[in-house]
Amino acid sequence: MNKSKRPSGLTRESWLVSAGRGTQPGDPLNVPLVPASNFILGTGRDYSRGEGTPTWEALEEVVGGLEDGRAVAFSSGMAAAAAVFDQLPAGAAVVLPTDCYQGVAALADLGAAKGRWTVTRLDVAATADWVAACATADLVWLESPSNPLLTVADLEAICGAPRKPSAIVAVDNTFATPLNQRPLSFGATVALQSATKFIGGHSDLLAGVVTTRDERLWSALVMSRTLNGATPGTLEAYLATRGARTLGVRLRQAQTTAGLLAQRLEAHPHVAKVRYPGLPSHPTHEVARRVLDGFGSMISFDLDPVAAGGGRADDGALARRAAAFADDVCGGVTLIRHATSLGSVESTMERRAAVHGQEHLPPSLIRLSVGIEDADDLWADLDTAIEGAAGRLSRPS
Ligand SMILES: *Cc1c(COP(=O)(O)O)cnc(C)c1O
Repeated sequence: MNKSKRPSGLTRESWLVSAGRGTQPGDPLNVPLVPASNFILGTGRDYSRGEGTPTWEALEEVVGGLEDGRAVAFSSGMAAAAAVFDQLPAGAAVVLPTDCYQGVAALADLGAAKGRWTVTRLDVAATADWVAACATADLVWLESPSNPLLTVADLEAICGAPRKPSAIVAVDNTFATPLNQRPLSFGATVALQSATKFIGGHSDLLAGVVTTRDERLWSALVMSRTLNGATPGTLEAYLATRGARTLGVRLRQAQTTAGLLAQRLEAHPHVAKVRYPGLPSHPTHEVARRVLDGFGSMISFDLDPVAAGGGRADDGALARRAAAFADDVCGGVTLIRHATSLGSVESTMERRAAVHGQEHLPPSLIRLSVGIEDADDLWADLDTAIEGAAGRLSRPS
């Protein structure tokens, strides 16, 4: 059912580079930017909101082939998520992780508040609860590794669990990318990418992609995009395809560095806790070894305001000092950018509890998206910022 399918035997890394290109003599190698609303009638491609453009299709071919499914590109990751929720019947039962991208959680809560569906939240690591929930849910929404605690769901068990024939099991695969994890092969109905992140890889676009192996669901997702007008921008689709070309080398470099930084952070005297699926200390490390092909380039860590010389205090004061410590570290990095988002060539970090809807997180939790800079340069930047902030914490001016 793919218009163009990844040949068996061809690696995903090679597919990324070779797919979604011109095929006829004289075609440009790169499918060009086609800024079109309408086409000369006669081929069935009349109006781009409904039938798409060659520029979108190049992106869909690349991402669809990575997941061995068929893809629909959207204007953003949230538009892609909304199209999945759009499939639900009235009164549907939705199951969502407790640790979840805040936009998707807000979308689910808004629909619940309007009486469209009910929402149950489950711990990503509570596999048995997810398996049980699969029996009655209409939408099982997983995010793995989760944002920002990087908990890895046992997709093998959950996506393979018995479920209603009409149920959708959706996996937000943004953090792992299709190179590190293939939800559809575990039995998920749809896999989602915020292509804004690793697929695009350069912090210069918004796009989302949903991939499925269910032809009827694929058509329904296209219909949702058409009727809600959640269409990708032409330039954005072009840039996302261009960015995807280098995903293999970007991810390999970034996750090697992330593994190194995670180890060094774990040994750092001013760091209280490091969450990285590749660390043996990570609560879901064993699951990660089984379901992931790589541990990714996202790390989250908590600072230790007591170890930094902040002294002991009641909880409220300690939490405020922990937050101030983390804010100071975020303000102190120079190579790493103090910015939200992730999956780009440049490293970024932010204190997540400062983000609206994420106030429940540990106050000093910093989420670091490791880019492709030199590992020692990144470490020097991070260590200098932590030591500097720790010094200021122990010697308040
Ligand atoms: C960013 C993100 C989204 C939303 O994608 P946008 O492109 O910003 O709309 C969804 N899920 C995860 C895990 C994300 O990181």
